[in-house]
Amino acid sequence: MKLLVLNSGSSSIKYRLFRMEPISVLRAGVVDRIGEPGPSAARDHGEGFGRVMADLSDSGAIGDAASLFGIGHRVVHGGERFREPVRVDHGTLDAIRAMIPFAPLHNPGNLQGIEVALATCPGVPQVAVFDTAFHQTMPPRAFHYALPRDLYDAHRVRRYGFHGTSHAYVARRAAELLGKPPGSLNLITLHLGNGASAAAIREGKSVDTSMGMTPLEGLIMGTRCGDLDPAVPFFLAAATGKDPGEIQALLNEESGLKGICGANDMREVHRRAAGGDSSASLAIDMYCYRIRKYIGAYTAVLGRVDALVFTGGIGENDAEVRRRACGGMERLGIAVDEARNGSPSREPREIQRGGMPVKVLVIPTDEELEIALQTVACIRKSIGAEGPR
Ligand code: ADP
Repeated sequence: MKLLVLNSGSSSIKYRLFRMEPISVLRAGVVDRIGEPGPSAARDHGEGFGRVMADLSDSGAIGDAASLFGIGHRVVHGGERFREPVRVDHGTLDAIRAMIPFAPLHNPGNLQGIEVALATCPGVPQVAVFDTAFHQTMPPRAFHYALPRDLYDAHRVRRYGFHGTSHAYVARRAAELLGKPPGSLNLITLHLGNGASAAAIREGKSVDTSMGMTPLEGLIMGTRCGDLDPAVPFFLAAATGKDPGEIQALLNEESGLKGICGANDMREVHRRAAGGDSSASLAIDMYCYRIRKYIGAYTAVLGRVDALVFTGGIGENDAEVRRRACGGMERLGIAVDEARNGSPSREPREIQRGGMPVKVLVIPTDEELEIALQTVACIRKSIGAEGPR
């Protein structure tokens, strides 16, 4: 049984082919520069997907597309409608389209990927898995903004949260590592990659998260500012004459680590700091401090925290960030062990100091695997509901 996972963006299609049960990766790749000039670039998503399928069959990974058990698609924004993965039909496509204003950089590319896959593989069940879905369990006090109520009623302005696939995956893996049922654990999960978000998870369900209506809110990221006084954009408009689109680009693409010190890649930020660059040192200091604030806030939200989970490229690899994000928190039951924290292992592991009540875990995330698992479960459920074909 083979399953294809697609992460289709505005100019790239990432793909991974899994064999399920026991699960293994058969083939993975990316078609990028879609729509860009140049003789070798794919003209559009249709041609890009053609290259994906050609690679899968040329390499012998699949016989023909019809033999796929299913295709799982990553979709960034599912709004309030999608609380779990869904089999794709015309209604789903319309709903993803309707969410474009909330995720103008992501949903159009996601949608194009689904459309070409549906057209190319009409008989293969396809499932959309949403980054927002895991956070749909947040209570109203966490997801509402303190704005006039009619703005929510008319425009659905609220916190949605993202990286849900990653938070859900590491939460489940954390439960496995600790040998506890997921529904018994309170967790703070920290996904620290190019984008970054924190989630408060009570008994397996997300009850708060740092990203908001869009992925701009919350932690400091590679190029996004995260939390900001909402008056700043208006002040900047008046002070610099920039229009709303330019300010949006400034906050999303020129801010965060890049804005503070000129480098958005954390490894480069460390290199510069080690070389005596004070703005790079400030960037790391601010980055860790912002994480600490969320750990404190979510400790208060949850009351009892069983484990803190670090994931994403920075969360998995950056011992200094983990150490500084957790330093001086013994009174909250949180402390990392220097030696365990410094070990470069790629395996999921515990790094808390002995005797501390809060486990501190490092768990490599795997969003494609999570999409694959959710896709299989969704297809099985829908086949069960329809009866055998
Ligand atoms: P994405 O969000 O695009 O999936 P990743 O999860 O791969 O990105 O995270 C990318 C970030 O992880 C970059 O800032 C990169 O510098 C950082 N990173 C990767 N390896 C290390 C490392 N060994 N030490 C510190 N940061 C790292």
